[in-house]
Amino acid sequence: MRRIGLLAAVVAACLSVPALAEEPDRTVSGEIVGADNQSYKAIPFDVPEGVERITVRLTYDRQNKTVIDLGVFDPQRFRGWSGGTRDRFTLSESDASPGYLPGALPAGRWHVQFGVPNARPDSRSAYRLDIFFDRGEARNATAAIADPPVKAAPGWYRGDLHMHDAHSDGGCASQSGKRVPCPLYRTVEAAAGRGLDFIAVTDHNTVSHFGGLRELQPAFDRMLLIPGTEITTFHGHANIFGPARWVDFRVGTPGVPTIGAVEAAVQKAGAILSINHPSHPSGEICMGCGWTWPDTDWSKVSAIEVVNGFNAEGPLSGLGYWYARLNEGKRLAGIGGSDNHDATAGPDKAPIGRPTTVVHARELSQAGIVDGIRAGNVFIDVEGTRDRLLEVTASSDKATAAMGESLRAAGVVRVQARVQGVTAGTLRLIVRGEERERRELGSGEAEFALPRGTACGWISVNVGSSEGRLLLIGNPVYVTCK
Ligand SMILES: [Zn+2]
Ligand SMILES: [Zn+2]
Repeated sequence: MRRIGLLAAVVAACLSVPALAEEPDRTVSGEIVGADNQSYKAIPFDVPEGVERITVRLTYDRQNKTVIDLGVFDPQRFRGWSGGTRDRFTLSESDASPGYLPGALPAGRWHVQFGVPNARPDSRSAYRLDIFFDRGEARNATAAIADPPVKAAPGWYRGDLHMHDAHSDGGCASQSGKRVPCPLYRTVEAAAGRGLDFIAVTDHNTVSHFGGLRELQPAFDRMLLIPGTEITTFHGHANIFGPARWVDFRVGTPGVPTIGAVEAAVQKAGAILSINHPSHPSGEICMGCGWTWPDTDWSKVSAIEVVNGFNAEGPLSGLGYWYARLNEGKRLAGIGGSDNHDATAGPDKAPIGRPTTVVHARELSQAGIVDGIRAGNVFIDVEGTRDRLLEVTASSDKATAAMGESLRAAGVVRVQARVQGVTAGTLRLIVRGEERERRELGSGEAEFALPRGTACGWISVNVGSSEGRLLLIGNPVYVTCK
C-alpha cells in the first residue's frame, strides 16, 4: 500500500498531470525498470457489466527516456494499439480513438497492453493508468470528441446543426465525376472553409460517423465537431445532438412503442432533441418529413428547426409552426440547419452554414453548445454570414432577461435590440407571433416599450432587409404577467 502511495506521489511530482474531469473508476500504478526493456507487459483491469465506454489515460515518467507503447485487449481479442503516439484512448459500441476498434465491451478481465521499446539499464519510471467507465447516464468529459474545449471563453458561436455525408445519403462527385457517397472529411472541410465555429453532423438513424469525427477533430482544432443523428420516423424527423449511444428510431416495434419512448431514450443518452423541417409536407417526395406525431411529449423537445436550408419564409418555413407551439406555452429554442447533402454542391443547394445558428455558450465544447441551445440565447442568421449579430434583452422594473429567459412584467416592458453586420433594414418586434412594430434599423440599436398587459406570453425581435427578406430570427424572451 505504502509503495503505491509513494509511486503516485512520484508520478504527481514528476509529471504535469492534466486535471481530471471526474474521478477514474480504476487506477493502476506501477514502475517500468531497466529489466523491462524490449518486453511486453499486460496490465489487467476488470470491466463490470453495463459499461458503454472505456477511456484510458496513461501518465508516466519520461525523464530517463523510458518509452511506453500503448494498446488494449478485451477478454477475447485485440481491441487497438497506438504505440507511443497517444497517452489516452477511448472505445465504445459506436466509436473509438483512431487505432482502436469500436464494438461491444464485454464484462470481464481486460488488459492494457504495454510495449517497452526503451528502458535504460538502471532506470525506474513510475506510471499510472486512469481508467474511466461510462455507464447509463454517467459520462466522462475525458471521452469527449473535442477534449478539452475548442475555446474556453464565453461568447457567440456560429454553427450549422444539420448535414449529411456518406454515412447516410450525402453524395458528391468522385474523381471521375460519378456521384458517390460523399466522404465525411469533405463535409468537415467545407464547414471549416465557411469559418464556422461548430457543426453537428446528423446522419440518418446511425452513429457510424462518430468515429470519423473523432479522427478529424484534432486536425480541425478551431471548429467543434458535434456528433448528431437525424432520427427519421414515418411521422417526422428530429435531430439529436450529442447522444452517448445509438437511439432506436423504430417507433411501433416492441422496444419503441411510441415516439415518447424515442424522446425518453434521447434524454437518457444525454442528448437534446430538435424537430426538423416541421412544416414540410409528408408524401412520396419526402416521406415522413413533416412532424405529425400526435403524442409528442413536448417537455422532452428542446428546439425546432425553424429554417431548413433556403426555407426561411414561405410554405416550407418552420416559423409559423414554431410560433404556434410558443403560443401554446411551450418553451422551444428556434434553430436552423442547412440539411446539406453535398458539401461540394453549387449555389442552387443550401451550402453548409446556410443558415447559421448563432449560440451564446459558456465555452466552445459539446456540452457548452448543447446547453446554450437549451438555454435559448440563440438567433438564426438566415443567409449564413460570418458577422451578423442580434442581441435582445427585455427588462421590467429592475429585472432583465436575455433571449430564452423569463421576465416577470412589473410595469412597462422594455425590449432592447442590438444588431451588427446589417447596414440597412428593419427591426421587427414580435409579440406572441404577431408583428407589433417595425422600425428602420438606423444605428443598429433600438428600444421598444410595451405597456404591461401587452407583453404577456413572449416577445422576440427579427431583422429584415430593406427589400423585406428575413435576415435574422431572434429567440423569445418569455414574459409572465402573474
Ligand atoms: Zn429530414
Ligand atoms: Zn436531414
